[in-house]
Amino acid sequence: MVETLFAPWRLEYVSTADKRDRNECIFCDAFASADDPSTLTLRRDRRSFSLLNLYPYTTGHAMVAPIQHCSDLSDIDEVTLTEMMRTAQDLMVAMREEYHPHGFNVGFNIGEAAGAGIEEHIHLHVVPRWRGDNNMMTVVGGTRVIPEDIGRTFERMSAALKDAGEQRV
Ligand SMILES: [Zn+2]
Repeated sequence: MVETLFAPWRLEYVSTADKRDRNECIFCDAFASADDPSTLTLRRDRRSFSLLNLYPYTTGHAMVAPIQHCSDLSDIDEVTLTEMMRTAQDLMVAMREEYHPHGFNVGFNIGEAAGAGIEEHIHLHVVPRWRGDNNMMTVVGGTRVIPEDIGRTFERMSAALKDAGEQRV
């Protein structure tokens, strides 16, 4: 049961992680970059930011990370945590609008043993789920085949997230 619950984000950034320098952090790099489409950065807030997972478990799979480079949930202050959860709410609104999922997995993997792909910079996963989505996706040569192009997902989610933020009370 636990296996199933935490399986969605096991495959995050595996390929990128192999190639990158140990001193680099993909979250810090994404935030520092001005090229949002190439880093898949959806939104920057005061203390955190959100981006799409380059290797999504399902179409729309997004993450929210603090701007501060830290590895533990205990290191994040209350204001930042609140902002991150508000962003998770907005992401869910955007996903519902664009993709009509039946449910969501929302959570943190802390440490490599728990399935964190990038354990040095904590991040919150927001994964849209559909009934039977495990069966829907084909696995070819160890790579998940996702129905929608990531560039297209970025366009759709960027626009929908902007709307979600503006509509928020
Ligand atoms: Zn970092």
